[in-house]
Amino acid sequence: MFWHLQVLNLYRNPVLMRQWVMKQKKCAVVNRELCVACGSCQKVCPMGAIRVYKGLYAITDGARCIGCGRCAKECPASVISLEAPREN
Ligand code: SF4
Ligand code: SF4
Repeated sequence: MFWHLQVLNLYRNPVLMRQWVMKQKKCAVVNRELCVACGSCQKVCPMGAIRVYKGLYAITDGARCIGCGRCAKECPASVISLEAPREN
């Protein structure tokens, strides 16, 4: 019963809703120091949210990333983790 009231409150309050969405969402984060810039992550991302920057390391676009985890599964160096985005 309490759980249903919490959901109802989320829908009524846009601030709470945004906080809840931010808490649920995960984004890909690359450990740049260990990335070997192979580009495998870039090839499998359905959102175009990760790319190799100047042949050096992969970078992600938090606004595009949907947290599907495909890049992390594909990464041969296992340097991608899915983390909650940081609020600035
Ligand atoms: S988690 Fe999914 S959407 Fe995000 S960068 Fe990786 S493949 Fe792309
Ligand atoms: S798949 Fe892994 S090692 Fe290759 S570019 Fe992406 S993050 Fe770097």
